[in-house]
Order: sequence, then C-alpha cells, then structure tokens
Amino acid sequence: MKKEMLIPRAAIEKRVRELALQISRDYGGRELIVVGVLKGAFIFLADLIRALEIPCRVDFARLASYGSGSISSGQVAVTKDIELSVEDKDVLVVEDIVDTGVTLSFLMEKLREKAPRSLKVCTFLDKKSRRKVPIEADYVGFAIEDGFVVGYGLDFDERARFLPDVYVITE
Ligand code: 5GP
Repeated sequence: MKKEMLIPRAAIEKRVRELALQISRDYGGRELIVVGVLKGAFIFLADLIRALEIPCRVDFARLASYGSGSISSGQVAVTKDIELSVEDKDVLVVEDIVDTGVTLSFLMEKLREKAPRSLKVCTFLDKKSRRKVPIEADYVGFAIEDGFVVGYGLDFDERARFLPDVYVITE
C-alpha cells in the first residue's frame, strides 16, 4: 500500500479546535447528544468532544453497506442502533467521511424517526464531488478531492486507522 500524506496531525488538531468552538457557540450552552458512526469516527469524536465547551453525552451507531468493495450499492442497514433516548434532544451525528451520502442519509432518516429536537451532522472529511444523494453536513473538517484516504480513524481493510495523520492511497 503506497500512500502520501494529505493532512498532517497539526492541521487536524487546529481544525478540530475550530470546529469544537463553533459547535459550542452554536448550541449556546445546551447539552448535546453526540452520535458517533462506528468505526471510522471514533478518533475524530474523541478529539472533538474533549475540545467542546458544552456538556455532551455520547452514543454510537454502526451501519453496514452492502456492495462490492468500496462502492456503495445503496443498500444500508443499522447493525448497532443508539441506546440513549434522543427524543426532544439536540443530536449531533459525527461521521468520518461523507462520500456518496448514501450511508449518512439513511442514518439521518432513522434518527429523525426518534423525534430529536434538532439533528445536525459534523463530518471530519467531505468528498463533495462524489455525492449521489443531496445531503450536506452542517460542520465539515476538510473538503477533499476524490481518492481513498486512511488514517485518523479511517481504514483500508481494518489497517491504518491508528495513523495520526491522514494519507491518500496512491497504489
Ligand atoms: P457513503 O455512503 O457516503 O458513500 O460512504 C460513507 C462511508 O464509506 C464512510 O463512513 C466510510 O466508512 C467509507 N468511505 C468512503 N470514502 C472513504 C475513503 O476515502 N476512505 C475510507 N477509509 N473510507 C471511506
């Protein structure tokens, strides 16, 4: 696996602090329920919530998308639902990356059925040019070009999640 560094850890740290500040201001002291999407978002979520200046509770969801390899077929299922009640609560979904938007739009639909007071999305990375479903994140760490990225929680066949910087696979 050949890779090139795309986003160094210092830039990630700085951007995470900026996002946390913006989120803290936007929610004006209200408590958030942060829903992390497993597995890819766990590192971003851990850094983001520690930089927040408002209280939060944390839960996780896991989704499976059926399709060949890295191509989403549009068939998504919840394999682990959230456990906290989000009815009438402010919910912020934390994603690793929005690509076609298929996974996120499915999760948003499922969460909307639970009647939260508000529902927003914060994604670490956004591949806008690949979108198949019209969905926009409310908070975006970095907008990136097409290409397969790893590190900072994002994997390639369960490898490379632990890397503190983000890389793009070149071969
Ligand atoms: P979508 O449904 O938006 O097409 O896909 C979202 C999911 O696909 C992400 O949560 C992530 O698991 C995976 N994904 C999409 N692009 C990449 C990428 O460049 N690198 C990695 N590691 N995963 C990706």
